[in-house]
Amino acid sequence: MQQHDVVVVGAGLAGQRAALAAVEAGRDVAIVTKLHPLRSHSGAAQGGINAAVGAEDSVDTHIYDTVKGSDYLGDQDAIEFFCREAGPTVVEMEHFGTIFSRGPDGSLARRPFGGAGFPRTIYAADRTGLALLQALWERLGTERFTLYDEWDLIDLVVRDGRVQGLVALDRKGGEFQEIAAKAIVLATGPAGRIYGRTTNAHSCTGDGVAAAYSAGGYLKDMEFVQFHPTALLETSILITEGARGEGGYLKNASGDRFMSQYAPHVLELASRDVVSRAIVTEVLEGRGFTGPYGGYVHLELMHLGKEKVESRLQEICDFCRNFAGIDPVTEPIPVYPAQHYMMGGVGTDIHGATNVPGLFAAGECACVSIHGANRLGGNSLLETLVFGKEAGVAAAAFAASAAKPALHESDLEPAVAPLRGWMARGEGEDPSTLRTEMQRIMERYVGVYRNEGDLLEGLKQLRAVRERFDRVRVVDQSKVFNMNLIDAIETGHMLDLAEVIIVGAYARTESRGAHSRTDYPKRDDAKWMKHTLAKRGPEGPQLSYAAVGFTRWEPKERVY
Ligand SMILES: Cc1cc2nc3c(=O)[nH]c(=O)nc-3n(C[C@H](O)[C@H](O)[C@H](O)COP(=O)(O)OP(=O)(O)OC[C@H]3O[C@@H](n4cnc5c(N)ncnc54)[C@H](O)[C@@H]3O)c2cc1C
Repeated sequence: MQQHDVVVVGAGLAGQRAALAAVEAGRDVAIVTKLHPLRSHSGAAQGGINAAVGAEDSVDTHIYDTVKGSDYLGDQDAIEFFCREAGPTVVEMEHFGTIFSRGPDGSLARRPFGGAGFPRTIYAADRTGLALLQALWERLGTERFTLYDEWDLIDLVVRDGRVQGLVALDRKGGEFQEIAAKAIVLATGPAGRIYGRTTNAHSCTGDGVAAAYSAGGYLKDMEFVQFHPTALLETSILITEGARGEGGYLKNASGDRFMSQYAPHVLELASRDVVSRAIVTEVLEGRGFTGPYGGYVHLELMHLGKEKVESRLQEICDFCRNFAGIDPVTEPIPVYPAQHYMMGGVGTDIHGATNVPGLFAAGECACVSIHGANRLGGNSLLETLVFGKEAGVAAAAFAASAAKPALHESDLEPAVAPLRGWMARGEGEDPSTLRTEMQRIMERYVGVYRNEGDLLEGLKQLRAVRERFDRVRVVDQSKVFNMNLIDAIETGHMLDLAEVIIVGAYARTESRGAHSRTDYPKRDDAKWMKHTLAKRGPEGPQLSYAAVGFTRWEPKERVY
């Protein structure tokens, strides 16, 4: 059995940054990842990373924008820490070799992003995530840690009040494996595949969040799901907010720049929840375009000119030309909101510590919380690096004083027995059918707009799918790259998380940030200025609530 001081699960920006910090603290570190590190979803990030650098911008404005963007649900002490770390973090990544785009004077180029009072999104054309990921991967250096590449986390082993290790499936070898660890950092990224329409990669199935939930961890604010306003129709490939940052317009079928009705001051550059609701409202009220993939609106870049569109938005041009057969230089882009980001996740403090001793989390799978009810574009890449490092430092310190983990051969069986059962079944439910059914339910009942009737119906239907999952069957008996088995494992994880999202959304009888209840259209600070915590109970998620951290910023009505 393998054993390490710190095992990081996930090798996107958060996981790699955590591993680098733990390596630099002198610990024996391993990374377990189901994808090759450079294929992590971080590499798909387009628009950029926020930091208040330069004389005109200020850290305080970044803090204020983030607090306001969160609809006052973000913890202000965490946000202050986060925004102060932004400048040093971006400079560090630049020193690690990230090639950022530059202004005419050679300084870091910055573009405006939604909900930001100043153009503070630093970028590498429209492939910022990949530029960061490659630089960090080179910095980390493969010789300083052990890489379990194409291994899937199945379960965390928690006993005697602390983490002891984990159980994983080696996709290539086809065997189940145990790894003992003094500390574990979860950095497993997004869970967007819970929804049918999502900008997230196929690998974004929330595995780490589900594993923490099963191991007794608290999940925080899971009902807050971000829908990105501009996903390409049909495929839901993201069209970065940078497209509007560079001056793109949104227009309805009558040719109106409808955002003037919803955000008269900043129009297309309001925060994402506001713009997504505006688009959905235009379509619902009959002012959108219609087509075989449903209603939509237009994103226009034509007026920006060929030179600007092709140099600043290279990937967007490729996506539009290759996946939609349109040229954004001369034609409008059909767009509609799609799931994009989970504000919620495994609840942590600012050092990544969860309520389970020895278990840490960072990046999109964690909820610190800095995004509260709505994340600002450009703050997530920053989050992965700032809190990835914090979690790595804290996990290394925990491991330095922790006793040897007590993982036993017998710990494998309870984690693996159900999976063997799925493979042994002669008949049963197909996991991908259940996954598609879950996605349909979440799309239909738990989308941009919610209400009591829909949420109850969605919960009823989802629980029926969960019952069917008890009879799930894996037909493929092969050992190597058994994607049928992996599909079943991931679907089980997502069903757990979908239930937590709906239960939290049903309970929260107000509208705040991305959680918009048509039956409770107002924010209710007296009753709901609090975080939702969900713990796994015998009958499903058990909810409790925790206070929001305040420092300097009084809640106000949010207007853009
Ligand atoms: C298309 C797109 C564009 C975006 N653009 C921006 C942007 O411009 N600016 C911004 O700030 N944010 C952006 N975001 C959000 C941001 O990119 C993500 O929130 C962030 O990169 C997540 O990083 P991460 O390290 O937490 O996870 P990821 O980069 O997704 O990495 C997750 C890792 O976990 C591993 N993993 C997952 N499950 C398992 C398992 N069971 N076992 C083992 N390993 C596992 C994967 O292999 C992977 O290595 C974008 C997101 C998307 C989807």
